[in-house]
Amino acid sequence: MDLPLSQCGTEHDYPNTTDGSKTEHGVGAAFCVLTNDIWAYQWSAKLNDNNNVFQAELTALHEAVIYASHLPNHNTSKIHVDNRASIMASSNSKSTNETARKIFKILLTNPRIKVSWVKAHAGNIDNERADQLAKDSAQHGQPYSHTKLPKPHIKGLLRKRMLEEWQTLWKNGDTGRKIFNIMPSVSLRPTNWIKEDIIFSQHGPFHAYLKRFHLSDSDYCSCGGIVTALHYATECIYTMSWHMRKPAPNFEQEWLKRVGNNFVSRYKIRRIIKFISENRDLFRPP
Ligand SMILES: [Zn+2]
Repeated sequence: MDLPLSQCGTEHDYPNTTDGSKTEHGVGAAFCVLTNDIWAYQWSAKLNDNNNVFQAELTALHEAVIYASHLPNHNTSKIHVDNRASIMASSNSKSTNETARKIFKILLTNPRIKVSWVKAHAGNIDNERADQLAKDSAQHGQPYSHTKLPKPHIKGLLRKRMLEEWQTLWKNGDTGRKIFNIMPSVSLRPTNWIKEDIIFSQHGPFHAYLKRFHLSDSDYCSCGGIVTALHYATECIYTMSWHMRKPAPNFEQEWLKRVGNNFVSRYKIRRIIKFISENRDLFRPP
């Protein structure tokens, strides 16, 4: 690392100013060192677009304290920061931000490094320069990947990845295919499906469900129709009160999908299933 000319034996200040910036072009962090009116050193980098300004400010401060900690021991370093939040975080040993805790440690073991607040855009030449550097590096700076991404961003990425994986499993799986036809997309939103809806869709040819509960040993309903979900929902003389419009031939899947997503249809299905299970004898073929 380039160090400014050290002046042996004499006390020397290294005013160092840090800044972070988020612009439409990206996120940048920078610090610069002004010694005897000469720009002795500067550092800048382009962070990930998903990093926030606070992280950029802390990154700049972290790099600045690392730089200052390498300066000869007899030199004091004053670091000017125009962001109060990053100063607060760095003076807290228990900060939730890892970069802030790292800064805290370095400051603890290097008491000659002082961090102080300066007002931004107040005409301080070093602050203005750090600001400009950070803005420039937001667009054209060297990529810097040591700053972790913000937690909400990582959570969002993980949720997206999880949903994609779940969707793939759901799409390629071989269980619950009847439900898949009605709900092809996975979602974290609750669907408020109740047991009857699931029975209706899962056991689409419905009599499998009826057989399981020993309601029927036959493929025929006592009215003479063939036992399917469609039969009860659209034709059976015993369930006429809750009938729905019959789907056109070959549109059964579409119909199931619509019925599954329609509040009134689902209500009717619940009533039909309730009625059938309360009147089993009625539905047994003679
Ligand atoms: Zn019937």
